Amino acid sequence: MGKMGTSRLMCHNCHYETYVLRDEHGFAEMQCPCCGAKITMRMVSRRHVQIDVYAPKGQVVLDN
Ligand SMILES: [Zn+2]
Repeated sequence: MGKMGTSRLMCHNCHYETYVLRDEHGFAEMQCPCCGAKITMRMVSRRHVQIDVYAPKGQVVLDN
């Protein structure tokens, strides 16, 4: 399994879920169309996926 491909990625701010394309470094990002948060994911290894959530400017990440 290569690092490139599609991943299901969920916005941890509003739980919107979509598919994103990973590049050759296993990295993908999206701007959530629902709440505007930025989500980045990186496949560190097959057993480790790192996801970062950035709240939209002027907002904080929703606690849910
Ligand atoms: Zn969202």
